[in-house]
Amino acid sequence: MATEIKGIAASDGIGVAKAYVLVDPDLDFKRYTVTDVQAEILRLQAARLAAIEELKEIKSKALTNLGKETAAVFEAHLTMLNDPDFIKQVEDKIKAESCNAEAAQQDISDQFITIFEGMTDNAYMQERATDVRDVTKRILSHLLQRPLPTLSLIDEPVILVAHDLTPSDTAQLNKHLVKGILVDLGGRTSHSAIMSRTLEIPAIVGTEVATQKIKNNQLVALDGEQGTSTVDPSPAILEKYQEKAQKFAARREAWSKLRQAPTLSKNGQSFMLAANIGTPKDVAAVVQSGAEGIGLFRTEFLYMNSDQLPTEEDQFRAYKDVLEQMAGKPVVIRTMDIGGDKELPYLKLPKEMNPFLGYRAIRISLSRQDIFRTQLRALLRASAFGNLGIMFPMIATLEELRQAKAIFKEEKNRLIESGVAVSDNIKLGMMIEIPNSALFADRFAQEVDFFSIGTNDLIQYTFAADRGNERVSYLYQPYHPALLNLIHHVIEAAHRHNTTVAMCGEMAGDQIAVPLLMGLGLDEFSMSATSVLKTRDLMRQLDTTDLKQLATEVISTCDNGEQVKAEVKQMECKV
Ligand code: PEP
Ligand code: MG
Repeated sequence: MATEIKGIAASDGIGVAKAYVLVDPDLDFKRYTVTDVQAEILRLQAARLAAIEELKEIKSKALTNLGKETAAVFEAHLTMLNDPDFIKQVEDKIKAESCNAEAAQQDISDQFITIFEGMTDNAYMQERATDVRDVTKRILSHLLQRPLPTLSLIDEPVILVAHDLTPSDTAQLNKHLVKGILVDLGGRTSHSAIMSRTLEIPAIVGTEVATQKIKNNQLVALDGEQGTSTVDPSPAILEKYQEKAQKFAARREAWSKLRQAPTLSKNGQSFMLAANIGTPKDVAAVVQSGAEGIGLFRTEFLYMNSDQLPTEEDQFRAYKDVLEQMAGKPVVIRTMDIGGDKELPYLKLPKEMNPFLGYRAIRISLSRQDIFRTQLRALLRASAFGNLGIMFPMIATLEELRQAKAIFKEEKNRLIESGVAVSDNIKLGMMIEIPNSALFADRFAQEVDFFSIGTNDLIQYTFAADRGNERVSYLYQPYHPALLNLIHHVIEAAHRHNTTVAMCGEMAGDQIAVPLLMGLGLDEFSMSATSVLKTRDLMRQLDTTDLKQLATEVISTCDNGEQVKAEVKQMECKV
C-alpha cells in the first residue's frame, strides 16, 4: 500500500529511488568511575585525534563536492577539536571527578550547547550549538567504537531519509547519487534545506515522521516543489511522478538557456533581476545565475563574523572584491543593519523589551557615527572599482534620511579633498520597510535615487507580527490585498518622481507574488541566486497588461491573501 508523507517544500525537483535510511549508531553510554585518570585522558586524546583525521577527510570531500564556503564548516569543527580551552575543560573534569571520558565530554559539550542555544536573539551564535553537537557525536563514536554512517560510501541512486542532517552529513553527499532528501526536522531556512538547494537535490523537510514510516530499500518518490512524497507508489502514481520529473527537467533545461537573456515580459516590458548576497563568496553563484546585478549586499556578516568592529580596510577590501567580481554590473550595498535579531556581543547594546522596535540599523549608525563614517569611507573608496549603489536600512523619517545623506556627503568631500578616487555616480537609496516610510513615499522619493522594499520587515511591521515567532507566522501574508495596496502606493509615489523601485525581501522571488508585483509596476526584483532563472522564465510568459488588471482587481475585490493566491493561480493556468 502506498503511503503519502508531506512536509515543507525545501528544494525543487522530483526524485525517485530506493530509500537509504540514515540511522545514527546508539551513542548512549554508561557513566562510571575510572581508577587510572591518566589512561582515561589518553583514551580521550586518541578519540579526538581519530575524529580530527576523519574530519580532515570529510573536509577534503566537501571541498570537491560543495566548494570552499561549505568546507569552512569543517574548518570550524577542526578548530573546535583543537581548541585548548575546550580540551582542557574536558580533561579537567576527568581529573576532578575521575569520571569516564564519554561522561566528561558530554557534560562539557552540553554546557557549551546551553550557552549557544540561550542566545535566542543571535541566530549565528545559536547555529554554533549544532557544530558542538556534531563534533561531540564524532568524539563519542570513537570513544565507544561505534562508527558513524559514512554517506560518502553510497554507491547507487537513493532517496536519503534522515531525522536531521548535520553539516558533516551533507558534505559527504554525492549529488549524482542522492536523488532526493526527506528529513523529519527543519524548516525552509534550516541547514538541510539550504544545503539541498545549493546541491540542487529535491528535498522535503519537517516531515516529522519520515524515519518512522520509511524502511531501508522501500521505493520512495518525492516532489520537492509541492512538499509531497509517496512510499511504495503504485505503478499509476509512479507514472505521475515520472511525468512531473520530465516536465521539471525540461523546465530546468529551458531556464539554463535564459542565463544571458534579457528579463522581459511577454509584451516586451523590461525588468531588472538581481540577487541578494551576504558575503563576497556568494558572488560566484550570482554570476552563474545570470542575475543582472546585486540588489542587496547585507553587510552585517562583516560585523558578526568577528569579535570586534571591522576596520575601514577590511570593509574596503570586501566591497571592492564584490564590485570587481560583478564587473560593472550594479551592486547595491546596504549600510549596517545590526540590532533586531542580529546582535553584536562586542557592541554591548542594552537588552531591550522589543528589539525589532528598538535600537537597530540606521538608528545605531546615526548615534554611533564613528562606526557609520568608517563604513561610508570604505564604501566611497570602493566605489571607484565598479557600479555602486548605497542604501540605508530602517529609515522612518525624513530627518534620519537627511542626516544620513549629509554624513555621506561630508565623508565624500573629505576623501575627494585628500585626493582619493571616488565615483561620481554613486546612487543613494533607502529601504522601505517601515509602514510610515511607505505611507510617506511621495516625500521620500524626492530625496533618493531609488527605493528598495524590504518586505521581510515591512510585513512584520504592517501586521504587528514578529517575523521570527512561529506562533504568529500565519500573519506573514505577502499576498494580502492591504499589503499589495501599500506596495502599490510606494511604487506610484516613486514613479511620480522618477525614482526607481526595487524589492529585496523574500517576496521578490515568490512565484505567486512576482506576477502581482509586475502588475503593480515594480522595476527591480532581488532574490536568492537560485530563484533568478526561474523568475526570468516566469516573467517571459506573462503580459503586463493582464497583470495590471489582475493586481487592481485583487486589491479591490479580495478579502485575504488566500483569495489573491487563488486568482493568481487561475491566471497562471491560462498562460
Ligand atoms: C527585509 O526586511 O525585507 C530585508 C531585505 O532586510 P533583512 O531581511 O535583512 O531585515
Ligand atoms: Mg529588513
